[in-house]
Amino acid sequence: AAKNLGRNRFNYFTPSMQVYAKYRMRLIQDLRQALQNQELELHYQPIVELKSGRVTKAEALVRWCHPVRGMVSPSEFIPIAEDTGLILDIGNWVFEQAAKQSAYWRDTLGTEVQISINESQVQFRDDKHGCRDAIALLHELNLKGAELCIEVTEGLLQDADIGVRAQLKAYRDAGIQLSLDNFGTGYSSLAYLQQCHIDYLKIDKCLTNNLTASDDEMKLCEAIILMAHKLDIKVTAEGVETEAQRQRLVAIGCDYAQGYLFSRVVTATVFAQSYLQPQALDCKQQNYL
Ligand code: C2E
Ligand code: MG
Ligand code: MG
Repeated sequence: AAKNLGRNRFNYFTPSMQVYAKYRMRLIQDLRQALQNQELELHYQPIVELKSGRVTKAEALVRWCHPVRGMVSPSEFIPIAEDTGLILDIGNWVFEQAAKQSAYWRDTLGTEVQISINESQVQFRDDKHGCRDAIALLHELNLKGAELCIEVTEGLLQDADIGVRAQLKAYRDAGIQLSLDNFGTGYSSLAYLQQCHIDYLKIDKCLTNNLTASDDEMKLCEAIILMAHKLDIKVTAEGVETEAQRQRLVAIGCDYAQGYLFSRVVTATVFAQSYLQPQALDCKQQNYL
């Protein structure tokens, strides 16, 4: 409809910007309620060990089931949550949920599965970041720490000041592992991989996608893996969608893979039923969490 307003750019852009501003305002209001109304859910995507084909880890990905809009994608609401500071509460909730889930699976199924949690730069740059609370929770749940992994982005490591480094160290001291997400999309400097004691590097899906299309891309991935291994860092490929990609990754020595070829992002219950021992699953889970 905006197109019919004429050739004038001003007329063309104004209505859509207003609509967007309104939409965004509304989303912010709704997001403030979302936690209280229990509209957020933590879902899981299995991470496969390529050598054995076994699922040994999972990435926790937040989902927002909006009462009117339905599922809102995290790529849409996480940036808004970051701008407004709501990410702090959401981040604490995600950590707590993932830690309790890990303890629950350990207690009921006897299975240890490492859960990866995405943490935003905004969380690390906040003075009140729940690092200490998070570690207290681990003790409370009697988790070893290695059952959890924090995924961070290159931006955080690039300008990691003393405060950020101290928080990364606190996680590490608690046994929690660190993973660098979306590797290959930013500046990908290598010095900080070692400085920040990164345990895993995740090759972004834009590189994985071209793995079988171009030889250059394959060489690039192979070089990343060789370099990572020299630094004692394990590599996970993200967004693996085809069997051909999986075979390439095995051939170039990639450690783990994640993507629609193996599984989509599923609920905690489906994850446990599909990948962990099924016998102990029951409806007590709801009360536990
Ligand atoms: P990410 O951490 O890089 O997560 C991987 C994204 O790739 C997920 O999108 C996942 O659903 C998608 N994916 C998995 N396999 C495939 C595949 O084979 N092909 C394709 N095309 N995509 C695949 P999702 O769940 O929409 O999340 C988007 C981003 O939102 C995440 O990217 C992460 O940056 C952010 N996010 C999600 N949950 C959280 C959270 O709890 N906290 C924070 N701070 N950020 C989160
Ligand atoms: Mg991630
Ligand atoms: Mg990623």
